Amino acid sequence: MYMITEQKPFEEILQSLQGATSVYLVGCGTCPAACRTGGKPEVLAIKEALLGAGLTVPGWMIIPTACDELAEQAIVAQGEPIAEADCLLVLACGLGVQNVARYSDKQVRPGLNTLFFGQRDEDGRFVELCLQCGECVLGRTAGICPRTACAKELVNGPCGGYHNGKCEVDPERPCAWMRIYDRLAAHGQADQLVTTLTIKDYRKASHPRRTVVVAQ
Ligand code: SF4
Ligand code: SF4
Repeated sequence: MYMITEQKPFEEILQSLQGATSVYLVGCGTCPAACRTGGKPEVLAIKEALLGAGLTVPGWMIIPTACDELAEQAIVAQGEPIAEADCLLVLACGLGVQNVARYSDKQVRPGLNTLFFGQRDEDGRFVELCLQCGECVLGRTAGICPRTACAKELVNGPCGGYHNGKCEVDPERPCAWMRIYDRLAAHGQADQLVTTLTIKDYRKASHPRRTVVVAQ
């Protein structure tokens, strides 16, 4: 499971660095490396592009996991080259960028757009699997998430627009609710479909979300 990211267009990155002459680069060795958006090859490519645009790059690093406490250790270890930079360009997901900003007093710029939480499919593409909705219904939907598999995020059955088992929004993919029905039926649980009616409780997904448990 990965936090899926895409690299921002270089022109947008350059624009975000306006006013800076020296930029320290931070990549992440976990999800962005798997997505090929912020691992070593991508950081080195951005470094060359920045040098070509007339900026200086006093250093770069790949934090093994930019969203955890390793970020603090890495930033402390790279104190000297970071001190030379006007700002940090971070090729990590939104969690990683915020974590770097938490441990560094330098200005921070994101180099990636964070898209979704997902996994590779059989074609090697990344696919969204969970919205972290706070009310998991997988136990009633045969292990298929209706919020990510259905184009309309419907949680109480199909919209009625499906055709030949395909989604009306995207005819290339199967209707999520037909998949849910077929899988429930295969387990002799088709009747369960009438109990899948849910009403979304928006209090569970109001931002920022917090657990009742205090982190250790
Ligand atoms: S219902 Fe879907 S979006 Fe919600 S927690 Fe379960 S898998 Fe995630
Ligand atoms: S056709 Fe199926 S997957 Fe597509 S929006 Fe309607 S219920 Fe959701």
